[in-house]
Amino acid sequence: MEHRTTVILLLLAVVVAALPAPSHGWGVDGHIIVCQIAQGRLSDAATKAVNDLLPSDASGNLSSLCSWADKVRFRYHWSAPLHFIDTPDNLCTYNYDRDCKDEEGVKDRCVAGAINNYTSQLLTYAPSSSSSSGQYNLTEALLFLSHFIGDVHQPLHVGFSSDRGGNTIDVHWYRRKTVLHHVWDVNIIETAEKDYYDKGTDEFVDALNKNITGEWSGKVQGWEECSKNLTACPDIYASEGITAACDWAYKNVTEDSTLSDDYFDSRLPVVNLRLAQGGVRLAATLNRIFGQKAK
Ligand SMILES: [Zn+2]
Repeated sequence: MEHRTTVILLLLAVVVAALPAPSHGWGVDGHIIVCQIAQGRLSDAATKAVNDLLPSDASGNLSSLCSWADKVRFRYHWSAPLHFIDTPDNLCTYNYDRDCKDEEGVKDRCVAGAINNYTSQLLTYAPSSSSSSGQYNLTEALLFLSHFIGDVHQPLHVGFSSDRGGNTIDVHWYRRKTVLHHVWDVNIIETAEKDYYDKGTDEFVDALNKNITGEWSGKVQGWEECSKNLTACPDIYASEGITAACDWAYKNVTEDSTLSDDYFDSRLPVVNLRLAQGGVRLAATLNRIFGQKAK
């Protein structure tokens, strides 16, 4: 009896290990890239506030903690729906009132709602007080905000409801079996690093920063802008996200598609743009938050 239980448990472990892990945003590298771009663009006031709020072991390096929100997803069960937005199948539009809710229909529980919430929490920051003594844990608020502004820029984080943002669409990335969502979280970035950037994020960040000050420089101010004098503008990013998901991520992909050079070459520019926009906008948001408090 005991032996049978062990065998069943072992089999179960094998089955669970074989299942693709459900993904919740850019992989570690994508979040590092977004946060490194952002950190280089912070105002003096925002740099001071971020350093003040970061735990001492992060030694002023925001990007080292930009995947923290994925790591605490199991400890903070309530946070799982805050990484994405599900939109109606094939509509290719996003509407906050219609779409920003969790599976139980609780309003504001989506990545756009979370960005608004952690922005308002961080607006209570006062340089003199400790990060945990007030109403909120502002260190966690900073780490959540930095992660979620990255996530909302991953097009399939504003994907369709029935395929859970491409999580249920099986594909091959070259020869490897995966799901479409994972291709956008991890595989395109990994392949770019392997092919172009000597396997590192630093070179990737350098290349994107060159485009931000070069080819894209005329557009950057537009990326940073926030309508109606708001401090955070996740609705703009989410609308762009579902458009990119329809125009690029889902396009010409069906169950069991094999995605290789054609897909990689045509989609990498979209990934590059979204990573750059994520970094520029995270910095702009933090600058608005902490600039306002400095006055
Ligand atoms: Zn995430």
